[in-house]
Amino acid sequence: MALGAAVALSAQSLPQKPDLPVEQWTGKTILLIGAHADDDALSHGTLAMLQAHGNQVYIVTLTTGNVGTQDPTLSRLQLAGIRRSEELAALKELGIPPDHYINLGYDDGMLEFEDHKAVVENLVFWIRKLRPDVLFAWDPGKVYQRWHKADHRAAAYLAADAARAAMWRLLFEGQISQQGLKEFTIPEYMFYNDYDYEDENLWVDISGFADKRIAADSNYVSQFGPGWIKYNPHPSEEEMKAMRDLVRRDIRTRDGKPMEGFRYYRGLPDAIGK
Ligand SMILES: [Zn+2]
Repeated sequence: MALGAAVALSAQSLPQKPDLPVEQWTGKTILLIGAHADDDALSHGTLAMLQAHGNQVYIVTLTTGNVGTQDPTLSRLQLAGIRRSEELAALKELGIPPDHYINLGYDDGMLEFEDHKAVVENLVFWIRKLRPDVLFAWDPGKVYQRWHKADHRAAAYLAADAARAAMWRLLFEGQISQQGLKEFTIPEYMFYNDYDYEDENLWVDISGFADKRIAADSNYVSQFGPGWIKYNPHPSEEEMKAMRDLVRRDIRTRDGKPMEGFRYYRGLPDAIGK
C-alpha cells in the first residue's frame, strides 16, 4: 500500500536501542496500552521508576475486566468496580496519579469482536491528546504473528494499528478539524510479553523499585489472588502475605538484579514487526 511506503525504509535504519538507558530517562511522556487492569503489572517496576524520575506515566486500559472471575456471586458491574479500585490502588503505590488512568470501557474477553475502526479511533484520540514519547504495549510479534490470549492478541494489534493511524492527518481527521488535536508519530516503543521472552532486546534494572511493584501488584486480589475464587475485599494478613510472595516470585532477575525485559523498537509504526 502506498500510504507510508516511502518513509518505511528510514525507520528500519535506526539503532534499536534508546539513546539513553531507560534508567536515566526524565521529562518523557509514557503511555501504556493494555487490555485489562493488571496488564501493566509486567512493567510496574519500570513505570514506578519512570514516574519517580520525572516522567509522566499514563495507562490506557481497553476493557473494564468485567468477566475474569471464578466467583459465582459477582456481577459484571461489581467486577468492573473491583478491577477499577484495584488498579487505582496499584497505581497509587507506583506514584501514578488517578487521573493518569483511562479506561475505555470495552467488555472483558470480547475485544477482538468490537468494531475495530471505532476502537482504533478511540486509541488514536488518546495518542494524539497525550503525545507520548514512548508507547508500552503487548508485543504484536516480530516478523511472525504472536498468538497471545484473545484480549492480549487484540490489544497488541489495536495498539500498533492506532500508533500507525495517529500519524496520518487525513485519518480520523475530525479529531484535528473539530477537536483541536494534531497528528502524532510515536517515536519509541517498549513491547512486553508474558512467558515468552525470546524477542527481548532491552532489560531495565528495577533495583530500588521491586518493592513498589510488589506493593502495587498485591492489590490485584480479584485477578490472581485469593479473591479469584471467592472475592473478599478484606483478605486476611496470611492471604496478603501469600499474595506478596506470589508477586515477588514473578519478578525476573538478570545478573542478580531485579529486571523487566522488553522488545524495544524505534522508528515508524509501519516497521514495528521488523
Ligand atoms: Zn490481561
